[in-house]
Amino acid sequence: MSRVGRNIHVSVDRLRQLANREGRPRRITADAGTCPKCDSHYSADEMRRNLRVCPACGHHFPVTARERMEQLGEPGGYVELWPELRASDPLQFTDLKPYTERIVDAEKSTGMGEAIVCAELQVRHQPAVAAVMDFSFMGGSMGAVVGEKFARACDHAAQKGLPLIVVAASGGARMQEGTLALMQMAKTVIALDALAEARVPVVVVLAHPTTGGVWASFASLGDVTYAEPGALIAFSGPRVIEETTREVLPEDFGRAEAQLRNGQVDAVVDRRELAERIGRVLHILARPPGTAGSTAAPALQWAQGGAQRVGGAVQALPTLPRKMMDRMRPGSTDGEDSGETPA
Ligand SMILES: [Zn+2]
Repeated sequence: MSRVGRNIHVSVDRLRQLANREGRPRRITADAGTCPKCDSHYSADEMRRNLRVCPACGHHFPVTARERMEQLGEPGGYVELWPELRASDPLQFTDLKPYTERIVDAEKSTGMGEAIVCAELQVRHQPAVAAVMDFSFMGGSMGAVVGEKFARACDHAAQKGLPLIVVAASGGARMQEGTLALMQMAKTVIALDALAEARVPVVVVLAHPTTGGVWASFASLGDVTYAEPGALIAFSGPRVIEETTREVLPEDFGRAEAQLRNGQVDAVVDRRELAERIGRVLHILARPPGTAGSTAAPALQWAQGGAQRVGGAVQALPTLPRKMMDRMRPGSTDGEDSGETPA
C-alpha cells in the first residue's frame, strides 16, 4: 500500500522533536508498577516476586541485568566478572550532549558500568557463565566495552567448559562509537567460535527489544534460542521499515510469536518458566565433570551416533534411497528427476 507524501524523520531531528514535546508520558521503566496493557498496579515487592510479569495479563516488564541474574541464579547469587570496564570516547563524539556525559548519566541512573553484566552463576544447580544485557543503560547499545565483556565471557566459558547463557535486550550498535561499535559485531561472532571449538552450548534468551547489530550478530547465534512473549526481535523496528518502504506491516511484525513461526526462535518462554527451562536444557547437554573440551555431551554423542547409523542404513539400501540422497544434495532441484547419472 502506497503512502507517498508522508514525512520521514531521521534520528537527531526525531530526538529533538521528542525532547521538545511537552506533557509526553514518561517511559515505562523497570521500577514502574503499572501494567501498560491492563492498567493493573503492583507494589515494588509484588513486581519482584512476580519476576516483573503482570499476573493479570502476562505482560513482561523490562528487567535490569542484575535482577535477571538473581531470577536465573540460585539463592546465594552470582559472581560478577569484569565490572570495572568502562567506555572511553575515542571519537570525542557529541550529539545533543557529549558521549562522556551520556555515559556518566547512564551510570548514575542505572548503577551499572555498562550495558552488559557478565557473571558466573548456577541455574537450577547447573553451573554456567551468563552475559546479560540491560536496556536501561543507553538502550542496551553495544559499544567496545559490551563487545569486550561478551568476548571475555565466551573465552571464560570455553576455558572452564561451562555453558554460556546470553540474555539480549538492545537497540543495536552504539552510534556514539561509530565504526568501533560496528566492529563489535564481528568480534562477538568470532568469540562464539571458541565455544563451538570447546563444544560447550550457548543458550540465548531474546528479551524485548533485541534489534540492530546485536540481533545481527551474537544474539541470533545460540544453539538454543528462547524469546520472551511479545519481545520485538528484528533488525529494524516496524516504524522505521514502514516509513522507509511505505508498506504497512503485519501487526505482530518482528514479535517473538511471529519469529517462532518464522523459525528464528526455538520457543517463546514465559519468564516465570525460564530458569527451569534453561536448567533442564543445561542438564541434558551437561558433560560428566573433567571432560571439558574433550568429548561432546552424552546427548550430542547419542544424536551424532544416531545420525551415523541412519546414514549407514540408507547407504546399504539399493536404488530408491540413493535417488532420495541425490535429491537432497545441494544444487539439485526438488521435483526434478535428479536420480539419473549426469552426462
Ligand atoms: Zn497487565
